[in-house]
Formats: sequence, C-alpha cells, structure tokens
Amino acid sequence: MAVVVAGGGITGLAAAWELARAGIAVELYEASDRLGGKIHTEHVDGFLVEDGPDSFISYRPAAATLARELGLGGEIIGTTDPRTVHVRTGGRFVPLPDGIGLVLPTRMAPFLMTGLFSPLEKLAMVRDLLLPRSPAHEDVSIGWFLRRRLGPALVARLGDPLIGGIYGASVDELSLDAVVPQLRAAEREHRSLLLASLAQGRARARAAAAGSPAPKGSPFLSLRGGMGSLIDAIAGRLADDPNVRIRLGVGVEEVRRGTGGLSVRLADGGAVRADAILLAGPARASAAALAHLVPAAAAALGGVPHGSTAVVSLAYRADRLASRPGHGFLVARDEPLAFGACTWSSSKWAGRAPDGWVLARAFLGERSPGLLGRPDDEVVAAVHADLARVAGIAGAPAFSRVARWAEAMPRYTIGHLGRVAALDEAMRALPGVVIAGAAIRGVGVPDCVEQGRAAARRIAAVLGGSATVAA
Ligand SMILES: Cc1cc2nc3c(=O)[nH]c(=O)nc-3n(C[C@H](O)[C@H](O)[C@H](O)COP(=O)(O)OP(=O)(O)OC[C@H]3O[C@@H](n4cnc5c(N)ncnc54)[C@H](O)[C@@H]3O)c2cc1C
Repeated sequence: MAVVVAGGGITGLAAAWELARAGIAVELYEASDRLGGKIHTEHVDGFLVEDGPDSFISYRPAAATLARELGLGGEIIGTTDPRTVHVRTGGRFVPLPDGIGLVLPTRMAPFLMTGLFSPLEKLAMVRDLLLPRSPAHEDVSIGWFLRRRLGPALVARLGDPLIGGIYGASVDELSLDAVVPQLRAAEREHRSLLLASLAQGRARARAAAAGSPAPKGSPFLSLRGGMGSLIDAIAGRLADDPNVRIRLGVGVEEVRRGTGGLSVRLADGGAVRADAILLAGPARASAAALAHLVPAAAAALGGVPHGSTAVVSLAYRADRLASRPGHGFLVARDEPLAFGACTWSSSKWAGRAPDGWVLARAFLGERSPGLLGRPDDEVVAAVHADLARVAGIAGAPAFSRVARWAEAMPRYTIGHLGRVAALDEAMRALPGVVIAGAAIRGVGVPDCVEQGRAAARRIAAVLGGSATVAA
C-alpha cells in the first residue's frame, strides 16, 4: 500500500517529493500523458516558449527552495535590468511608475509625476486620506474596496491589470479577503491605503539604509531552461526512487471507503487500495472523485468558478519592431485590445529567443471570450493585428503558438474563504484524504508547491510518520 496522489501538476509532484523524502511510498496518477500540468515549456527553433507560467515570485520562497533541493539553484535567473513595464491606456504606453507595490505607490514622487492618471484623478485619490474605514466587514470585491477609496481610474489602470490579470478575471469579481487580505489589514491599521503603502515604502528604505539583507533584484524568478526544467528535475528524481511509482494517462475517478480502508477507482477501470489519498488535480476532478463519499466537499469545490485563457506566443525579427520593447505591458480595462497583457519574453529573460529575434506572449481571457473559441489561425491573426498596431511591427510573425487553457484558471471570487472553510469542515469526515491545488489556497507556483508539501506533511502525520518529515 502507498499514498495515492491524483494529479501530476506541481502541487501533486511537490507532495510526492515531500512524501518520498519521508520514506513514504507514493503512487502518482496523472490523467494526461505528461507531468507538469500548467507548467509546460516548449523548445522550438531556438525559442523557449512557456505555454503556462513563466516565473515565480521571489518573496514566496517555496518554489526557489524546491528548485535548490532538486539541484537547480544555479539555474535560477531573475529578469533582466532595467525592469520596464508599461500600461496601455488611452491609446498610448505609459511607464508603470517606480515603486508600485501590490497596486499602490510605496513612493510618492514617481506617483505624483506619472502620466498614468490625470491631475484630477490624482486629486480624487486624496479622498483615501480622509475616508473612514470600510463599513463592510463581510467579504467584498477588490474592485469595490479600491474604487471606494481611490476611484475608478486606479481600478481600471492598476487594479484590474495587476491583480485581475493573475486570475484572468475582473477585480469586481475577486475576493478582497482571499486574494489581497493585506489591503484589508492595511485599512484596519492605517485607515488610508495610501498612507499604509507609503509607510511600507519608508520601512523598506530604512531597512535598506540600515544594511539589512532586504530582498534585492527582480521580484520575478525563473529557470534558465524554463519552468519545465523544474518538472523535469522533480520527475527525474522521483523516477529514481524505488518507493515512487508514476502512471501517466490514468486519472483517479473516485475515492472509496470500505471495510478494507480507502481506495480509488481509476479511469482505466482498475482499483487501488491506499493508506491515504491526496487529490491534487483540478477542482472539478477532485469534486467528481468525492461526489458520493463527501458531497459537501464536492459542492464546495464545485463552487470555485474557473475561467479560460490562451497564451499566444509570437516571434518577430527584431528589426521589424519600431522600438526596442521593455519587459511587457498591461492593458487597462477600457483599452480595446484583444489581449489583457503582453510579455516581451526575449527582453524580460535571457535566452528565450535567438539573437536578432523578439518573442512576445499575449494573454487572452475574459476581455475576448468570443476569440477564445476561434481556431488558432484566427486567434493569431487577431492578436498579431493588435500587437502590430500598438507596438509598430511590420510584417507577419515568423512563428506562432497558441496554448489553450480551458476552464483552467480558478477564480477566487467573493466568499472564497467561506468555500475553503466548508471544504475543510466537510473533509474532517475523511481524515486520510487531503485536497490541495491551485483552486484552494493560492494559484501561484510557490503557493502550489507549499500546498503540496503541507498536504504531504499532514498525510505523513496521519500515517504516523510525521517525525521523519522535514518541517
Ligand atoms: C497561462 C498561465 C500562466 C500562469 N502564469 C503563472 C506565473 O507566471 N507564475 C505563477 O506563479 N503562476 C502562474 N500560473 C498559475 C500556475 O501555473 C498554476 O496555478 C499551477 O501550475 C497549478 O498547479 P496544480 O498542480 O495545482 O494544477 P495543474 O497544473 O492544473 O495540475 C493538475 C494535474 O492534474 C491532472 N488531472 C486532471 N484530472 C485528473 C484526474 N482525474 N486524476 C489524475 N490527474 C488528473 C491534470 O492533467 C494536471 O496535470 C499561470 C497559469 C496559467 C494557466
């Protein structure tokens, strides 16, 4: 018998890694024919194309820690200098002002100088300094919360592109308490969000002046060989472990509990007994697996809405661009472009394109749902047309790729934490079964690594093996 892990994305793989290190036997079932889930790097004609994530944030160290454990410490790279990001608004590119934290300025001077907001819009933001705390104690949308204090321009040009973009959703749908609890805490402590953010900036500056090891460099990290090298490394190490068995192309369909204990029914009709089970697939797969045994858990998981997205990668000869691109640009809510953001991968990272070439990746989503359903050539034509117009590109892309992620982006909408609490409560009835993954406690790669490892530690504790598991 072993721990059965359902799902070979980064959550399931990190869990398998943690269990294996504790000497616990693992059987991992992955429904598709490859490991990695949304992490997928392709190498095409000298280009390194990321179909899913291209980075992990440095201030949540779980992904970098895992990479180092796997011997990839020397492969971790930061973004190139200088970090230049623009916002496309009002038909022009405006540089993101220096010192923007989550969504608010940590330094006043660049914010006062920025052309991102008109003088009147900036004046309207002063309201935040005077306004009392929000009367709402229950969860609200990030959009409502920010708009009330700082006005609609900040929501359209910073809130939506910076926060909504991560979830492929509007900030008017997303939960303040689940996505940015720090904004609620900032209001509680300082009342004014601007004052709170500026205080944070001053604290950072003081720490830097005092020579404290303040995090330097890029907040975004990746791997020289792309995000897929994390998957290759972990898969390789797991394959070498005689205690670990990985099966591709076989999904877990149902969790069962009988007199003999726990078991799973597999998509190929087989059944496997398990000491414990980790469901680390997408929410709908975990919900389906629990529908009979723990319907309340299935309902909570089913209550997490998912959006669709596509990553469109386009390669151009550098001399076809009117100007040298920075790292990329975010698109303000009211700007009529097919995509919500564009990364110039070849400028943001070293080694993503051969010399003399530019690699762009644009994100489609909720702003163009009709386009997502169109064939690849139409999607490419629409994205290229918009990109060529705004970035001054002559000629067609030399190559293009469309990576589609249908119903794959969990959205932490208002009430998300309530759904997670209901899930936890329901799962108390089934202590040997744990659920983790992007739909629950964080969508970022580091969050998923952390969830996978934490789930593994819980399972080890249930099995009585917690003493052997590293904290
Ligand atoms: C386009 C895009 C860009 C992103 N960019 C970033 C970024 O730059 N930085 C960042 O930190 N995060 C980013 N993310 C988010 C991050 O990539 C994901 O949240 C994370 O990789 C999810 O990992 P996971 O293991 O929870 O789920 P998944 O990667 O979805 O893995 C789940 C796995 O379960 C398998 N499966 C499905 N059904 C079953 C079943 N019944 N039985 C067994 N297996 C099953 C699936 O095939 C899949 O392999 C991005 C996401 C997308 C889509």
